[in-house]
Order: sequence, then structure tokens, then C-alpha cells
Amino acid sequence: MTAHTLYRAPGVFPRQGRSSASMVDPFGRAITYLRLSVTDRCDLRCTYCMAEKMTFLPKRDLLTFGELDRLATAFVERGVRKLRITGGEPLVRKDILLLIEALSRHLETGSLDEITLTTNGTQLADAAQRLVRAGVKRVNVSIDSLDPGVFARVTRRDCLAQVLEGIEVAQAAGLHIKINTVALKQDNRSQLPHMIRWAHARGMDFTIIEAMPMGEIDEDRFDQYISLKDIREDLEKVWTLTDLPDRTGGPARYVRVAETGGRLGFITPLSHNFCEACNRVRLTCTGKLYMCLGQEDAADLRAVMRAYPGDDGPLHGAINEAISRKPKGHDFVIDRPGGVPAVPRHMSVTGG
Ligand code: SAM
Ligand code: SF4
Repeated sequence: MTAHTLYRAPGVFPRQGRSSASMVDPFGRAITYLRLSVTDRCDLRCTYCMAEKMTFLPKRDLLTFGELDRLATAFVERGVRKLRITGGEPLVRKDILLLIEALSRHLETGSLDEITLTTNGTQLADAAQRLVRAGVKRVNVSIDSLDPGVFARVTRRDCLAQVLEGIEVAQAAGLHIKINTVALKQDNRSQLPHMIRWAHARGMDFTIIEAMPMGEIDEDRFDQYISLKDIREDLEKVWTLTDLPDRTGGPARYVRVAETGGRLGFITPLSHNFCEACNRVRLTCTGKLYMCLGQEDAADLRAVMRAYPGDDGPLHGAINEAISRKPKGHDFVIDRPGGVPAVPRHMSVTGG
């Protein structure tokens, strides 16, 4: 498929019913950030994210590129300034770079400030140059250990070297990389200082994520969960951490590490203190709009979009209705061994 055929998909253009009204939810929060999941599939099987044997969606259920573009564009028209492409693993969706290249027209017109990507890095070496040419400046790479054995145990795939090469190639191509690591009590707690030093020495920000109770996995989340309060205490025994005022409208809080000079983020989604500034919504690869990562309520935008192929009016109506239901906050808890997930869907469905 070429970019040309992608954007001549029948029923996608021309359209009526554009809207420029911004999206503000009942709590006065302006929605300016869309996380767009382009697939639920992945080439890794991180133990905290998926079971080894996952049932993925049939490919026919996925939104086409024309539909993903139409939805993303509708959100850009409504004031979204930042678009994050995620998954599953976004770079395993065939020809995904065509979609990113096409969406980059919104950067050129100034309607969008940023297109960015969250990836496990396995395909990054091949994608880096084209991402840069499409105007992508920053990419988040998830990596939970620099030890090949631990990496293979956590991801159930032995490919640390491939990921490290992806990071190197991406940096050489000019991409700014931020490393995301899920804090895992048994697998990486003691390695975090080494990983942070490694990232900061290479000019990469580093963010530690608290494990969230999303979806059935093969292990007990209670065994893996460690609070970032404990991790911060570990790090403060060896380093001086100074709080930074930086805010992203999400659950991240940042500090400067005096000894490395680098920036360190803590993502604590289980705490409620970020919900009041929440600026984001999430769209799945089947067109479900989740107004909150930690709630089950979703709006089926695919059905509306398919029912009105040439008219975005009803789509904007459905978006308005969904935003009017954005909840004040989430309901996550990890409170007991063997507990059922607080949110039954996997993170790979909604996109992290
Ligand atoms: N495959 C890509 C990756 O790993 O970066 C993008 C999708 S992944 C679902 C996005 C982020 O969510 C990753 O940083 C991953 O570590 C994190 N994640 C997945 N499941 C999680 C969970 N249950 N709790 C906390 N973070 C999780
Ligand atoms: Fe795949 Fe990302 Fe989930 Fe790991 S965290 S299994 S890389 S989607």
C-alpha cells in the first residue's frame, strides 16, 4: 500500500461535518492529548502485561489506516495537540510508518505539536530514519532490564541486543529517547540505579512506572508490585533527588538526580493526585474511546464512523457525548495476593 492509496480509501474523503469546538470535560479539563493504539499484538510477552498465550483480535476487527487517520484527524480538529502512537507494539503493525507519515501533515500545518511513539524498541533500528523524516522527535522505549537473562525472563523473549541496537540507531538518527521501566520487586528493583546511570550517561530521560492491575496475566501481580515510594527511598540512599516542577498532565512526577545530572520520572497511576489535571483520552485499535485508563466505560466510535462514511457530524456528536462522561478519576487497587485485576482489559488493548 502507498500513502496515495491509503488516503484515497473510499468513503473516507471528502467528508462533511468538521468541528473546531475544543473538548472540555465536566470537570473543566481540556483534552489535548490522544493516545492511539494501532494494534493489540506484540512480539514480546512482558510478564506484567500479557500472558504467554494471548488471544489477539482478528485482523478484520482492526481499524484500517483510513479509519485510524479519520479518527485521529477528528481529534486534532477538536484541539488535540499531542498524538502518541502505541499498542501492543505499534511497530509490528504492517506498514504503520505510512500512517505516521500521513498524519505528519498535521505537524506541517501546525494543527498538531507532536507525534510520538511508545515502543519496545525491537523494530526501532529499521524505523528510526523514517520516523525522523516524518517529524517525530521523541520516542519512549520500554526496557525493564539491561541484563540479558533478566530481560529474557521478563519479556519471555531473548532480544535485549536488538533493543539496544534500536536505541543506538535511533539516537544516531536524531531521535530523543526516554526509557520507561516498570518497577518489578523481584526482577529489577536492585538494578534500577545501574539502569538510570546508563540512560543518563547517554542523554536519555528515565521514567519508572508502577505496575498496574490490568488484565489477566500468568503471574500474581501482588508478587511483582512494589510502590514507587519504596523505590524512591532506595534511590535516596545513594543519590540526591530534587523535585522538578515539570508536569505533563499525566501521572508522572520528575526529579533531577544530582549525581548523574539526568531527569528521572515516577509514574504512579495508583495514586489519585494526577487525575485532576488529566488531559488525555485513549483510542483502541478497534475504535473504542476510553476516557480513563482505569475505568471500563468506553464509546464505540468505529460504529458511528462506519455508519456515516462521508459525514463527521455524528462522529463529533459521539465524541462530545463521550467526553461528557469522562470520570473524575480511576478505581485502581492492588490490595491482596491472588486478587482479580481491577481493570479486566490488558494495557496492550488500551495502549500504555
Ligand atoms: N509495546 C510498547 C511498549 O512496551 O513500550 C507500547 C505498549 S506498552 C502497553 C506501553 C507501556 O505500558 C510500556 O512501558 C509497558 O511497560 C507498560 N505496561 C504494560 N502493562 C503494564 C502494567 N500492567 N502496569 C504498568 N505498566 C504497564
Ligand atoms: Fe508488548 Fe509492550 Fe506489553 Fe511488553 S509492555 S508485552 S512490549 S505491549
